[in-house]
Amino acid sequence: MSETQKVDANYPSPKKISQINATTLGISWSDGLESSYDVKMLREKCPCANCIDEWTGEKRIQPGQIKDTIRPVNIKSVGRYAVQFYWNDGHDTGLYTHDYLRELG
Ligand SMILES: [Zn+2]
Repeated sequence: MSETQKVDANYPSPKKISQINATTLGISWSDGLESSYDVKMLREKCPCANCIDEWTGEKRIQPGQIKDTIRPVNIKSVGRYAVQFYWNDGHDTGLYTHDYLRELG
């Protein structure tokens, strides 16, 4: 796949996603911003239809449901707009848009 399109500064994308430590994930953005995320918080903020009610926007994850041992086992970029996390609790349907990740960061 060739990368011919210029990166639009208005729509920063993750340049690098790395595990800072066991519970912290870091993202280096194309505009130079460095964000860090608590992995458990990321899992709890999963925006997929299983975790957030599509109609009411209500969270379906109960407090305490996500264990402290939650870790991303794989991270995949989806198109130009989102990142998909594969979690060690078997959950992998959440697409975190770049906008959403910036908001959480
Ligand atoms: Zn989810």
